[in-house]
Order: sequence, then structure tokens, then C-alpha cells
Amino acid sequence: MRRWNGWGDEAVSFPLPATATAFLAEKLGPARQPQDAPLETVLRSVGTPRLPRHPLVVSTAEERVRHACGQSLGDWIALRFGRIRAFPDGVAYPTSDTEVRDLLRFAAEAGAEVIPYGGGTSVVGHITPRVGEAPVLTLDLGRMATLVQLDERGRLATFGAGIAGPNIEASLRPVGLTLGHFPQSFDYSTLGGWVATRSSGQQSLRYGRMEQIFVGGHIESPAGPLDLPSYPASAAGPDVREWFLGSEGRLGILTRATVRVSALPEREAWQAIFFRTWSDGLAAAQRLAQAGLPLAMLRLATPAETETTLAFAGHPRLVAALRGYLGLRGARADGCLLLVGLVGPADMVGSARRSVLAIARDARGIHVGQSLGRKWYANRFRSAYLRNSLWDAGYAVDTLETACPWNRVPDMVDSIATALRSAFSPETVRVHVFSHLSHVYPHGSSVYTTYLFPLHADADENLRRWHWLKGAASRAIAEHGGTISHQHGVGTDHLPYLEAEKGPLAMKALRTLCHDFDPHGLMNPGKLFE
Ligand SMILES: Cc1cc2nc3c(=O)[nH]c(=O)nc-3n(C[C@H](O)[C@H](O)[C@H](O)COP(=O)(O)OP(=O)(O)OC[C@H]3O[C@@H](n4cnc5c(N)ncnc54)[C@H](O)[C@@H]3O)c2cc1C
Repeated sequence: MRRWNGWGDEAVSFPLPATATAFLAEKLGPARQPQDAPLETVLRSVGTPRLPRHPLVVSTAEERVRHACGQSLGDWIALRFGRIRAFPDGVAYPTSDTEVRDLLRFAAEAGAEVIPYGGGTSVVGHITPRVGEAPVLTLDLGRMATLVQLDERGRLATFGAGIAGPNIEASLRPVGLTLGHFPQSFDYSTLGGWVATRSSGQQSLRYGRMEQIFVGGHIESPAGPLDLPSYPASAAGPDVREWFLGSEGRLGILTRATVRVSALPEREAWQAIFFRTWSDGLAAAQRLAQAGLPLAMLRLATPAETETTLAFAGHPRLVAALRGYLGLRGARADGCLLLVGLVGPADMVGSARRSVLAIARDARGIHVGQSLGRKWYANRFRSAYLRNSLWDAGYAVDTLETACPWNRVPDMVDSIATALRSAFSPETVRVHVFSHLSHVYPHGSSVYTTYLFPLHADADENLRRWHWLKGAASRAIAEHGGTISHQHGVGTDHLPYLEAEKGPLAMKALRTLCHDFDPHGLMNPGKLFE
């Protein structure tokens, strides 16, 4: 059963090792888990639904609670303290285009706002209902979630848009294929959600971001249906498919998506390399990103993230042995860890591995084999469960991300960390910050930052801390020329920064486009733009 107020399956956990608990106590001081609101109490706080009856709409309190929040830190605070500001008035699980159309008509007649819902893993407020007069209908795509068509020869697969990661892979694996899209939220997030947020998976270097994977599909919008044919390429004017990438539910419901699929890799290799300094690591990462090598993943941790990773690894003896070895090779404690993933045909992986290690050696990198990389790989989805354990230990955790050209990366990493660390005086709130580069491009990189701080017993105080920290980091990103999001999207949390990034003319065009597909403004209002 999926947790209603945390991450993932109730039967799965990722306990904090003792080394991590000690590390957090040292960095952040003592912490205590605030009292959780019981589900029964939250269920009693759900008001009377404001929608007329409809055979496809369920309005039980539990369905409404389970669709009220995503996974941002603000959502967590709302769920854990039982302080949810708005619930959808009803939830529908359509099974066909006809039912989607019928529900859109029903919503229009009822004056309801419509929130398309995939896996509910948004971390920027995409699926949270607005507080207001209008009733809210959430359309959960979870029953449009099968493989509809597979063109093995052309390597194209069409799925119902509500299909989640594991079911996509399970339907492709028997025929030797993979989608290769592995966001950390893989277990729950869906194809429709990935398209609507321009998601990027952990192996995006090999398989591409969603904009390279998504080639067509079908949309039901308030203004009517639309088919997006899947041409291998087209110069027939602007690409209509692009309008739906990152549309965040504002243009309509993607009911089916056609995606490029690839052969399952013959071999996978996960190398770990330590660099003596952050600047050595950065130089190597940039060279690797520009070398044209067939990499699947490159993940360079700052010294602070490397230190945190080793504290959370939970094997003190092995970590001490590793530190001893690195010390013998002249690496100080402030070194940084690079993980490189290579997947594909065995000979290609072998030769790419040799090139990677040669480039790393040039930057004084120390190759420490595959075991750290394999451990990361084994926990690549399970590590999301740490959010539950951290909360239970009394710590809030949030992540944010951006992308910028290579020449701005060092400043960007520092500025975000400084903004977060200095948002409060250390006597009031201590903040632990660390970052990594995870999606690299020849001309720049994403920067992914995690920050933790001790939870307060009061919900409002936690919200105040979070808004303050998130605001400080977002302003630092904008001031240093980064995009407000590399992969999580805009939702409500990044909305104040979008206009400055895109410019007034582009925002006007975006509003006009949304109006054409959704003349009465039913579709997910308040997300992406006001
Ligand atoms: C632990 C964790 C790890 C994460 N890791 C990553 C990561 O590695 N990479 C990454 O890119 N993101 C990551 N995310 C963010 C999140 O998983 C992505 O934004 C994901 O794409 C959301 O998919 P979803 O199906 O859950 O969509 P939802 O959260 O349900 O919805 C997101 C948006 O898409 C719209 N939408 C959903 N389905 C449809 C549809 N069929 N038609 C039209 N609009 C639709 C919604 O209206 C909403 O605006 C992570 C989140 C968490 C909690």
C-alpha cells in the first residue's frame, strides 16, 4: 500500500545508518520528529464535495486526501501536520478517450477546474488544488496504463499515458527492449507526467530527456481532440509535439504517448573515480561531456556531497579503508566523487571505459573500481525512501535544480550553497547543503542541490523556513543565469521566476496557446503561470 503522507510503499524502508545519524547530529544539531497527524483526523477535515454526482467521479474522503498533495517539502509539511489547504472535490479514473472527453464536458458544465494526475510525484506543486470557489476534479490516468502498440522494427511503443516506470519496463523487457527513462521517482511517476514536466532520467546521456524520447500521442483538450503523429523528423513548421512537453496539464490530457525505445543493454558498468579537488573533478566532467563518448550517466558530487554520501553509506570500516587508500594516493578529505555509467554493447562499453579512465587520469583522478557505483545503482530508486527516515529522525529535506553553461557552473554551485547556508543565522537554523552535477551536456550542466534542516514542532514555522530557503536559492539561480528548472518543472513553486526567464512576449504567446486549447481556463489553473 502506498504511504499517504510520505514516499513510497509502506512495506519498504531505508533506515538511516548510525554513521548518518551521528553525521547529521554534528552538522545540524539534535532534532526531533514532530507529531504526525493521523489519517483519520485528516479524513475528518475534508469538506463536503462541491461537484454534482457523476458515475465516473469518486468523492470519498480518502480518495480526495490521497490526491491532494504531491511530494514537495511544502506538500510533506501539509500531509504530516494534517494542514492540507485544499482537496479535490472528486477523483475520476477514466479508461478511454471517450470517458476523458465526457469528464471534460462534465467539468465545464460544473464550472470545475481539472487537474490531470499521473503518479502524484511532482515536487513543485503541480497537482495541488487551488483554494477558491471553483470545485476541483482530479483526473487520475492510472487506468489508462497499458502497452497499446509496439513497433519492434521501428522501435516505437505506444502506451496509455498513466503507465508508471516499472510497468513500462516490464512490458518491453520480454522483447529485449527498454525505454531507458529512469527518474529517481521511477516506481510511481508516469509517462504522461514525464512528458508534461519535461522529465530527465538518470541515464539521459544515453537514452535522452523526455523531449528526445516522446515522439507523438493523443490529447483530449477542452477545445477538442488532437493527434500528434510520430515522424522520425519533420521540417513542417514548428513542432506541435513540443507544445505538450512541459505543458503541466494546462493544454489538455495526454491519453496516449508514443515513445522511442532501445535495445536492452548488453553490458552495464558503473565506475567510481575520486578527484583530489573540486576543480579537478569539474575539469574532468567537462572534458568527458565534450568527448563524444557513449556515456549513460555522469554524476559528480561536490566535496560536501561526497562527505555526506560516505557518511550515509553505513559501512564505517570500508569507508575508513577507502579513505586510507585515497590518503596514500595523496587525496585529502575534501576530494570529490565521480560516478560514470556506461551501458550498451559490450565492446562499446569496454572502449568507452578505457577513454573515461584516461581522461580521469589526466585530471589526477583515482579510479576506485565499480563497487561504489554498483551500490549507487542498486539503491538508485530505494534512496528516495531516505526522505521518510530523515523526517522520522527530525530533519526536513528538499532538493532543487538548475542548469547553466560550463563557465557558470562553479559560481552557481557556490552561490546556491551560500544562499542556503546563510539564509538563517546558525544559532537559529543550521542548514546542511550539498550538490552534484548529474545531467551534463557539451555546453553546460545541471546542478542538483539537496539541503537539510531540523524540523520545528510547529507546521507554520517549518513552512516559513522552507519558503525562506527555497526563495533564497531560487533567487541565486536566477541571478547567476541558470534556468529555474532543469527537470522538475514550474508548477506553483517556480512560477514567480518564469516570466523573467522567458520574457513577456513568450509568456503572452504561451497564454494564448493555452487559451486556444482551453478557452474557459479549466485545465490546471495557477500552474506554470497565473
Ligand atoms: C523522490 C523523487 C525523485 C524524483 N526524481 C526525479 C528525476 O530523477 N527526474 C525528474 O525529471 N523528476 C524527478 N522527480 C519529479 C517527478 O517525479 C517528475 O516531475 C515526474 O515527471 C512527475 O510525474 P508524475 O506522473 O508523478 O506526474 P504528476 O506529479 O502526477 O503530475 C505532474 C504534472 O504533469 C501533469 N500531468 C500528469 N499526467 C498528465 C497527462 N497524462 N496529461 C497531461 N498532463 C499530465 C499534471 O497535471 C502535473 O501538472 C522526482 C520526484 C520525487 C518525489
